[in-house]
Amino acid sequence: MRVPFDALERQYSKIADELDRAIKGVLSSGRYILGENVAKFEEEFARYCGTKHAVGISSGTAALHLALLACGVGPGDEVITAANTYIATIFAISYVGAKPVLVDIDPESYTLDVAQVERAITERTRAIIPVHLYGQCADMDPILELAKSHKLRVIEDAAQAHGAEYKGRKAGSLGDLGCFSFYPSKNLGACGDGGAVVTNDEELYQKLRIYRYMGQPRKHLHMVIGYQERLDELQAAILRVKLRYLDRWNEERRRLAALYNQLLADTEVLLPKEQPYGRHVYHLYVIRVRRRDAVKARLAEAGIETQIHYPTPAHLQPAYADLGYGKGSFPITERYSGEILSLPLYPELKEEEVREIARELKRALERLELEGVAHAA
Ligand SMILES: *Cc1c(COP(=O)(O)O)cnc(C)c1O
Repeated sequence: MRVPFDALERQYSKIADELDRAIKGVLSSGRYILGENVAKFEEEFARYCGTKHAVGISSGTAALHLALLACGVGPGDEVITAANTYIATIFAISYVGAKPVLVDIDPESYTLDVAQVERAITERTRAIIPVHLYGQCADMDPILELAKSHKLRVIEDAAQAHGAEYKGRKAGSLGDLGCFSFYPSKNLGACGDGGAVVTNDEELYQKLRIYRYMGQPRKHLHMVIGYQERLDELQAAILRVKLRYLDRWNEERRRLAALYNQLLADTEVLLPKEQPYGRHVYHLYVIRVRRRDAVKARLAEAGIETQIHYPTPAHLQPAYADLGYGKGSFPITERYSGEILSLPLYPELKEEEVREIARELKRALERLELEGVAHAA
């Protein structure tokens, strides 16, 4: 059996008629930029997230970039975020000329360690970016309290957490701004690049609209140096169809994650831990295991694709050699980067496939154990 890490064609085939109709509707309308679909999707996505506004952006990375600009973050400022995240979170801070200040993650939730955030705050700190990694929210209440007492902005990186909840509220709706990516494999994905920022703040909302389209509050009036970073009509039309399935798909992700948990319960594998404060939507199902690279190779031989999110933390990447961090700066992030393994998980993954993956994983662990014993003897 071959199990791919992603299988977006399976998702397409389930809703092909609806998607084809939506795409055809856009093509025949002749309106491809900032038309009815973007406006409607913004309304629908804001309602889904429980915020007043949403602004469609060209990608999740651009959403983070424009969110920081809207908050007025710039050169000389510091922004605190997690060492264990996709590099885009940190690049966005660099794009506005601010300095990324990284902190380690909480060992259980894999999200920002709040005590370390507090210690990292200086006079230059302007914002905190909690990352709701793998589909689980960071512990937001203490972060929001810290931000309030230090007058900092909170920009949520919810790129992996569409529909995730924190104490009954949706990811993205808790801070000043919530940034989403609609990269195809995300829980809500376009058929290309896309992103959004959600907010309840009227002023930030207006700024985002201006920044995403050449600094224009209206056509031919350029108030600031803006960008060409709009969500396009085709992607918006596709996202409007898929948004209607998001809750069902997230439920399916949770069901399959529970099945993995059950099948792997009596092994040495360390399973993801759902925090009591929220609802995890399993963008990724990430385990930790000893001899990770050997396990990964064994699974590959058995036809099972896995990935690592992320194998080299940002502070050890060449691009950030000048930040002043090195090996040992963030012990948990660094240790985990050698142990984490993302198993296939998407709503269209079949139960038999999950069972097969669990079986092959157990077989790999047993064989490595035997070889280890032989080696030692
Ligand atoms: C995917 C992702 C992004 C970037 O989104 P793009 O749409 O790929 O630009 C940012 N942060 C996190 C945590 C992500 O997973």
